[in-house]
Amino acid sequence: MGESILTSELDLVSKTLPKNELRSCFPSLVQVEFAPTAYRDICIKIQFPDDYPQTPLIAQLESRRLHEDIVTKLQVACEKEAEKNLGGEQILPVVDFLRNFVTNNNLIAAFSDIRALRASLPDPAVLTTQERAGTVKLLLEEGAYKLAVRFVLSKDYPEHAPTIEVKASTFPPEYVHMFIAQANEIGRRCVEAGTSEMPPPPGISEMPPPPGLSFKEWKKKDMTMAFVPLANEGTAKHRKAEAAAAAKAEALMLGNQRKLEILGIGEHCPSEAALSTPSVEKVSSGLPSLAPMALFLINDCVQRLPRDICKICDGGLLPANPSDLPKLPKDKQVERIYCGHYYHYGCLNKIMTVPPFAKPCLTCGRRIYHHKWVSDIKVLEKRWATKQAREREIDDVVNFLGP
Ligand SMILES: [Zn+2]
Ligand SMILES: [Zn+2]
Repeated sequence: MGESILTSELDLVSKTLPKNELRSCFPSLVQVEFAPTAYRDICIKIQFPDDYPQTPLIAQLESRRLHEDIVTKLQVACEKEAEKNLGGEQILPVVDFLRNFVTNNNLIAAFSDIRALRASLPDPAVLTTQERAGTVKLLLEEGAYKLAVRFVLSKDYPEHAPTIEVKASTFPPEYVHMFIAQANEIGRRCVEAGTSEMPPPPGISEMPPPPGLSFKEWKKKDMTMAFVPLANEGTAKHRKAEAAAAAKAEALMLGNQRKLEILGIGEHCPSEAALSTPSVEKVSSGLPSLAPMALFLINDCVQRLPRDICKICDGGLLPANPSDLPKLPKDKQVERIYCGHYYHYGCLNKIMTVPPFAKPCLTCGRRIYHHKWVSDIKVLEKRWATKQAREREIDDVVNFLGP
C-alpha cells in the first residue's frame, strides 16, 4: 500500500471534516456519519485495499432511517465516485458526493412511498419525480375525468406532510376542493401518528393495496400484510427488528385508524367535522404520508367518484363527459352536503322541503345540512303548514266552484 500517501490523505481528512462527523480516521478504518435531517442519517465506513489508491476504496454504508435499497444504491454510487479518482485522493470526493446527495435529494426519505405508489398504479408512467425539487407528479384519469397534482415534499419529510398543488382538473371545483382538503387531513393524521422514538415503519407503504381495495380498506382488513417482510429481504436479525417495528407501527396505525373512523376521514366526509374535534397528541415525527395521501386521491377520488351515484335517485352523479357539466339543468347539478356526500340539487330539494324534516344522509346517516336549505325545523314546519293551509284554501275554492 502507498502507506505515506494514505497517511497524508488521512491527515487532510481529519483537518477537513467536522470533528462530530469523523468517528474514526485510521488506515484500518475511516468512518464518517452525518444527518442533514433526522430522517436522512448516513454512516460510511471506508477501508483501503493493499494497492490503494491504484484501486478504489471499499465503502460500506449504513442508515437507521433511510430505506435499505436506497442505501445500497448509494453505496454503488460511492464506489463509482471512488473509481473516478483512481490513483489520487478518494475519501473526500466520496464523502462530498454522499453529502451532496443525501442533503439535496428531497425524495430519498420518501423512497418507500414512491415505490408503493408506482407498484399500485396501473400505469407507472402517470407518476413522475423530480428528486432535487422534491416533487412527485401524478396524472390521474378515469374516463374523461382527469386530475393532475404535484406533491411538494419539504426537506424534513416525513415530519411534515407534503403540500399538494393542483395542476389540472376536469372535475367540478368543489370536488377538487374536497379531494385536496381530505388528502391534507390524511397527511396531517399520518404526521401526528408518529412518535419521537420510532423510525418510519419499514413496511408501511411497501405493499400496495390489492386490486379493488382502497388504501383504507386495505389497512383495515389486513394491516399485518403491510408489514410482512419479503422472504428474501434482509437477514433474520433484520427481519426480527422489522417485525417488532411493524407491530409497534401497526398498533399506532390502528389507534390512528380508529380516530380516522371516528372523525369520518377516509370515507368522503368533510374536514369541517374533523377540524373541530380534538386532535391526536402532538408529536415530533411522523409516519410517511405521501403514499396514503396519493392513494386516497387515486382510489377514493379519481377512480371512484366519476362512477358514483346519487343515492336519492340512483342515477349517476356526474355526466360521462365533464364538458357537459356547465350545461346541466339545475336539478342535475351536484351539491355537496355537510357530511361530505353528494346528491343532485333536484333530488335534495325534493326531500328537504317535505316532512319529516332533519333527514339523514343516505350514505352515512348523519343529518343533512346545506346552506341552500333551511335547517331550522320550526321554520320548516311553519312553512309546510302555511303551504298546506294554502292548498286547503285552494281546495275549498275548487269545491266552492264545483258542482
Ligand atoms: Zn339524484
Ligand atoms: Zn353523508
